Amino acid sequence: MADIIKLLPDHVANQIAAGEVVQRPASVVKELMENAIDAGATSIKLIIKDGGKTLIQVVDDGVGMSETDARLSFERHATSKISSAQDLFNLETKGFRGEALASIAAIAHVDMQTRTEDNEIGTHLKIEGSKIVSQEVVATPKGTSISVKNLFFNIPARRNFLKSNQVELRHITDEFHRVAMVHPNVEFHFYNNGSEMFNLPSTKHRQRIVHIFGSKMEHRLVPVNEETEVVKVSGFICKPEFAKKSRGEQFFFANNRYIKSPYLHHAVVAAFEGLIKSDTYPGYFLFLDVDPASIDINIHPTKTEVKFDDENTLYAILRSTIKHSLGQFNVAPVLDFDHDPNLDTPYSYKEKGAVIPKVTVDVTFNPFKETAPKENTSGSSFRKQSTKGWEDLYEGLGNQNDHQEFSSVVIESESEEQGTLYSGEEIEEHLAATFQLRRKFVVSTVKSGMLVIHQNRAHERILFEKFLGEITVKEGVSQQLLFPLELTFNKQELAVLKEIQESLTNIGFAFQSLEEETVKVTGVPMMVPESGIGTVLDRLIADYMEGYTDGSISQAEMLAKVLSRNLAVRTGDMLDSESQLMLVNNLFACKEPTLSPFQKITYTIISEGDIDKKFN
Ligand code: ADP
Ligand code: MG
Repeated sequence: MADIIKLLPDHVANQIAAGEVVQRPASVVKELMENAIDAGATSIKLIIKDGGKTLIQVVDDGVGMSETDARLSFERHATSKISSAQDLFNLETKGFRGEALASIAAIAHVDMQTRTEDNEIGTHLKIEGSKIVSQEVVATPKGTSISVKNLFFNIPARRNFLKSNQVELRHITDEFHRVAMVHPNVEFHFYNNGSEMFNLPSTKHRQRIVHIFGSKMEHRLVPVNEETEVVKVSGFICKPEFAKKSRGEQFFFANNRYIKSPYLHHAVVAAFEGLIKSDTYPGYFLFLDVDPASIDINIHPTKTEVKFDDENTLYAILRSTIKHSLGQFNVAPVLDFDHDPNLDTPYSYKEKGAVIPKVTVDVTFNPFKETAPKENTSGSSFRKQSTKGWEDLYEGLGNQNDHQEFSSVVIESESEEQGTLYSGEEIEEHLAATFQLRRKFVVSTVKSGMLVIHQNRAHERILFEKFLGEITVKEGVSQQLLFPLELTFNKQELAVLKEIQESLTNIGFAFQSLEEETVKVTGVPMMVPESGIGTVLDRLIADYMEGYTDGSISQAEMLAKVLSRNLAVRTGDMLDSESQLMLVNNLFACKEPTLSPFQKITYTIISEGDIDKKFN
């Protein structure tokens, strides 16, 4: 047989290798920004068009490249950063593989202009799919500007695989944050489709975090500082009361490089134990400095996973350091010399006069009516209220009986008048219809036996179908607010709000404008009480961001899920008998009553036969 093995031509090899380095526009952003940092830039500009699909440009004022280096930089394994394998154990730079530019040039149209300090004239290089198209002299400022256009132009399958511009932009923003956060002394500008997203002046860590995540962060941060032989830990944790349901604001950096480490994440969470609820996550921005020889960043092509020599010790140090900071912050006010007085008063408050507090009286308030006790303090006010009047949640939903599966499940006492008489017998009757077990289940009798409904899951199912209907049919009922509510959001949160604005409007939200950090909410869905609007929107944004990579479900479905999860009654909520009956009826009016939107069983029937067996 003849020899059949061939060496792949360079441009094919590059294209294949590119798949490892460049998964999406955000990967290009990361590589170009890191190169700019390695080049010693003091100012970096990021320019994006159409989620990076049309253009990604990074302009820096770093050292630049000579004519020859400019060409060489696009060769595979061309790097100025290491020269021997030994150097890998002493990395001070972000790059070292010498693959990024070669990979990017293999799958895009690249345009580079660069000049070093001692050259008066710069060089302008054009490359398309690994081929140099032209190289000319050019007058250009010191530093480098690289434009990457039409990413994946020669790999249609990859291009089609890209998500919407907004989703890609969010990935880009994540990468931008990761680089910007760890280099606060470098100035950053970020433009998207011609408008400025971020303008980050050179500053210190704390203010950089505040500039990125919005001024509300200013009073949430608690400093963390510890220096041991193994590691130097610095940075900030967020006060426990600001723990969020999302995993968005957790950042580890090791030797100035963003890393992911579930193990160290666990150390932080362990330090917060007892201070935050189990389904929330503490925010943190932690910078670890270790001996470069004790860390291996070489194990993953995109370099976010690292290996520390002595992870167990790091874990212990991190946990106790954070505990210490938390303790300190509890007993003594934090002295912070980095404090920027400009951030003290949010701008919108400066011009405001005093406002007469609004007093509202609930005329229907009945002190003898039982309401669910509050379990937690943060953000539960809306739930308390929704427990009280939650039957309102169901208007618009048809009544039961049109469901086939339910035709065999007839509530025995459902035809009973729900009287308001107070004779002992009446109450007996009433209780027989439904009762609540351990504030978790609603129990009722049906022909075949005993019906046990999981109150939280059942309500999730009911709300899910209600919201899904409203989002798609656009029939949500809005409750107009007499006084528009002002809420502040950071840029990323605003972007998410814009993305889901239409669906939110469909279910009854109304916003005056989504252009500024301060958003005026003028209307909300009927079932969301005014006091809970901020919490609901925060959770909605957080959950949505967390779920955004899951492209398998539609936006409508995703939102309906998130809303149902956040607004459903929980285990522990007390339900009055009217609400219990509503729950039963509305559950069986659903299209799919058996499962919650999260595929959990909502109810079970224990047959009379099974009960009989117990008495044998
Ligand atoms: P690596 O960063 O791993 O060395 P890259 O492919 O990202 O590999 O870059 C190759 C080389 O090109 C770098 O080592 C550096 O010498 C040069 N280079 C890339 N970007 C810049 C820049 N913005 N300014 C100056 N030099 C750069
Ligand atoms: Mg690089």
